[in-house]
Amino acid sequence: MIPYGKQNINEADIQAVMDVLQSDFITQGPAIERFENIVADYCGSQYAVAVSSATAALHIACLAAGLGPGDRLWTSPITFVASANCGLYCGATVDFVDIDPQTYNLSIPALEAKLKDAKTNGTLPKVVIPVHLAGQSCDMAAIRRLADDYGFTVIEDASHAIGGSYQAHKVGSCRFSDMTVFSFHPVKIVTTGEGGMVLTNNPQCYEQLALLRSHGITRNPAQMENEPPGPWYYEQIALGFNYRMTDMQAALGASQMQRIDAFVQRRHELAKRYNQKLAHLPVALPWQHPDTHSAFHLYSIRLQTDKIRLSHRQVFETLRQAGIGVNLHYIPVHTQPYYRQLGFQEGDFPQAEAYYRTAISLPLFYDLTETQQDSVVESLEAILSDG
Ligand SMILES: *Cc1c(COP(=O)(O)O)cnc(C)c1O
Repeated sequence: MIPYGKQNINEADIQAVMDVLQSDFITQGPAIERFENIVADYCGSQYAVAVSSATAALHIACLAAGLGPGDRLWTSPITFVASANCGLYCGATVDFVDIDPQTYNLSIPALEAKLKDAKTNGTLPKVVIPVHLAGQSCDMAAIRRLADDYGFTVIEDASHAIGGSYQAHKVGSCRFSDMTVFSFHPVKIVTTGEGGMVLTNNPQCYEQLALLRSHGITRNPAQMENEPPGPWYYEQIALGFNYRMTDMQAALGASQMQRIDAFVQRRHELAKRYNQKLAHLPVALPWQHPDTHSAFHLYSIRLQTDKIRLSHRQVFETLRQAGIGVNLHYIPVHTQPYYRQLGFQEGDFPQAEAYYRTAISLPLFYDLTETQQDSVVESLEAILSDG
């Protein structure tokens, strides 16, 4: 089976992890700060906090934004459940904004209309989480303008988008947002096995994130309530978690970051090849906004089902039977049983649901060979011309 995504691990990555294993610190050591600095420098942000996953990163980013019971968080329904669950972890109410039919990112007109209504009703969100689907940035200048007008915190879920950019800024610069979250799961652009990071330019946010990552404990006398009675002393000043990344993971991440531009460039080359080879088929190819340079985490097509004899499900199943590990990103979050039980239902976000009925993610990863890619194209051609 050709998977839809797969990590690339080289000798330098292996050596970097081995070096940590033979060093004094396999966690809470110097590799963490090194990795944080590499990512912050690459993205152009002031601060970075490495954590155990993007899910943990989203959770502490919401807490650092002050999200709590009685507050509201809005995100896109076309995302992984973690983008919404983080609001529920904080006791907040979660709602969604329908997607743009071209980029499949959160729709700016829909966001603006929903904000207008919410202002009238006194139900404005405290946090909005735009998700850069497939690695293509949302329209961050528009989101920033709305954030300033309506007073919400912007946390970018850039789990797909490290290495991408928006206008002249790398995703993660936080030029238009308060915080940006990355995932380092193996299917993503850069991996640490499991892992995540929050970037910010706000020193107060940074302080909160660093505390919440490790039990809410500080060893910095400036943050303490009491004068330290001795060198053993630390204080717990917030209710935090153990969301730390290990040094083995950070070393792997730092080593992977050496190749990030090559990773993204190869994904672009492969995406361009798909664009050329699929152009004649009854499918919509991933449209790219001129303001964005995608990281191309995903290459998702949409079937023009009125021009195809087989159903979406049959196309999907036939590709899987042919050894093509296609996937579907994503099942609209509001239709998950857990979210239906909170009051959401089919029909709430029609663009997201229409996307779900036609989308298929094709294999795209650094080591995908042109021969493998050609077999994906040939399978699709055979299935879609089976009229
Ligand atoms: C992968 C992913 C996450 C969660 O990442 P983990 O590191 O696995 O916790 C969150 N949001 C999006 C959009 C993702 O793709």
